[in-house]
Amino acid sequence: MKTTDCDVTIIGAGHNGLVAAAYLAKAGKRVRILEANGEIGGATTSVRAFPGFDARISRYSYLVSLLPDSIISDLDLNFECISRTVSSYTPYEHHGVNAGLFVSRQWDDATQASFTLLDPSGDEGRAWQKFYAEIAEFAECIAPTLLKPLMTRSELKALIAKPSIWNYLIERPIGEVITKRFKEDLVRGVVLTDALIGTFSSAFEIQANICFLYHLIGNGTGEWRVPKGGMGALVSELERVVRDAGVVIEVNQRVIKVESDFEGATVTTADGEEIRSQYVLSNAAPQILAELRGKIAPQSLDGSQMKINILLKRLPELKSGVDPRLAFAGTFHANESFSQCERVYVQAKKGEISAMLPIEMYCHTLSDPSILNPELAAMGYQTLTLFGLHTPAALFDGNNDAVREIALKSALASLNRYLAEPIESLIVGIEVKTPLDIEAEIGLPRGNIFHRDLHFPFREDDTEPSWGVETDDSRIFICGAGAIRGGGVSGVPGHNAAMAILAKV
Ligand SMILES: Cc1cc2nc3c(=O)[nH]c(=O)nc-3n(C[C@H](O)[C@H](O)[C@H](O)COP(=O)(O)OP(=O)(O)OC[C@H]3O[C@@H](n4cnc5c(N)ncnc54)[C@H](O)[C@@H]3O)c2cc1C
Repeated sequence: MKTTDCDVTIIGAGHNGLVAAAYLAKAGKRVRILEANGEIGGATTSVRAFPGFDARISRYSYLVSLLPDSIISDLDLNFECISRTVSSYTPYEHHGVNAGLFVSRQWDDATQASFTLLDPSGDEGRAWQKFYAEIAEFAECIAPTLLKPLMTRSELKALIAKPSIWNYLIERPIGEVITKRFKEDLVRGVVLTDALIGTFSSAFEIQANICFLYHLIGNGTGEWRVPKGGMGALVSELERVVRDAGVVIEVNQRVIKVESDFEGATVTTADGEEIRSQYVLSNAAPQILAELRGKIAPQSLDGSQMKINILLKRLPELKSGVDPRLAFAGTFHANESFSQCERVYVQAKKGEISAMLPIEMYCHTLSDPSILNPELAAMGYQTLTLFGLHTPAALFDGNNDAVREIALKSALASLNRYLAEPIESLIVGIEVKTPLDIEAEIGLPRGNIFHRDLHFPFREDDTEPSWGVETDDSRIFICGAGAIRGGGVSGVPGHNAAMAILAKV
């Protein structure tokens, strides 16, 4: 048995572990990262997934909103995100006519015309603009608090000028305001999906509010941007920065035990090595950390998304006749009306997979062809990144391979409903990741993309000051998605865990 020392040991080299390491090392700490997998990055990797094709896709996470610009500048990361002019396109059929709700990132004539076609009264378009103006006000207040110690519920509430916004976003189920403000099922669904990505919930459960919030507050704008070069570009930059700062990263080093005493903590790897440090940060999920400490794991919802990565010869034509370069540039929603989402949620709870899954997708290569070999790009090849909603891990238990096939069929049928040609005729490469696949490959418990249920970004009034990263052991912290204000590609819990430690030493 070999024993080594450092100031801080980090379990896991996901992007948050790397962010924490970067801040600590820049502050002069000796940091060692132990990663169970052969590769670093966790849910933020890019890979050549399709043999014979030089296309480097973001295998798991694919869009960036929650990563504060200040982390990029603090760490001097050469990492760029590309804005999309299109926010979303949602095809629909009305009295045998195929059309679509087109929404630009900034309200414009095309968006106005699209809302007017759906609702000639103009009410729906006005409701949309008013609602998102209110959300923007809220996001601007919340975003700057994310890299500071947690505010209390009352302190945060006091920052929001209009109590009604706080009330419908925090206190009342999000489904209430959506159904009150919008009358079209399709529009309600487009609003709702931000509350469901990564969260297996009805619109009328508060957990959906929390998910909604995290999708709308990033950098104070809630804009989701395309990582240039794919999500792996972020990891490469973080790796460069931490190695330059002297951090030791070891792959294929699974941690199997964590213990602590008054003077420090000891981490044991599967190889039997013991690493002694003042502090331990867990980038692994809180459920895994609990297991490593011999404790009871915190409860959480199952992961509920399946991810499909596709390489196409070209983009498909749509029944509505819209240019596919517009339809797939932003988020393309299919069968995600409010009532469809609610219905499929109930079905999934009963253990059934819908024959027409609510799905959403976007084409990375329309914004950033750099992930393709130039020859493929010149030939018109494109990627599609598809998320299937309400596919909780429990649906796949005991029969992952067979149910994966069923779910894939349902997702493609859902897309084909709005296409003028079957998507299958254009696919040259495809990979499907169920929640169980995601757990097996990168250790996200039950495939939960946020490690565990998200929390509101505040602490209750009667609780101790906190960064949202502490555990019941003063030597052990969470620096990953499972922290309060973790979840998503943000670096926020990595930053906050580093600050919590630096405040102590
Ligand atoms: C399919 C999918 C799509 C997503 N899409 C988006 C998106 O578009 N935008 C977005 O913002 N978020 C998205 N997310 C969520 C986001 O990717 C994650 O919440 C975030 O990347 C988590 O980062 P992390 O660094 O905290 O943890 P992880 O990336 O999970 O890294 C944890 C690391 O710890 C390692 N580890 C675990 N146990 C041990 C152990 N015992 N010993 C050593 N190492 C261990 C793991 O191997 C892993 O490398 C998505 C997630 C998934 C799965």
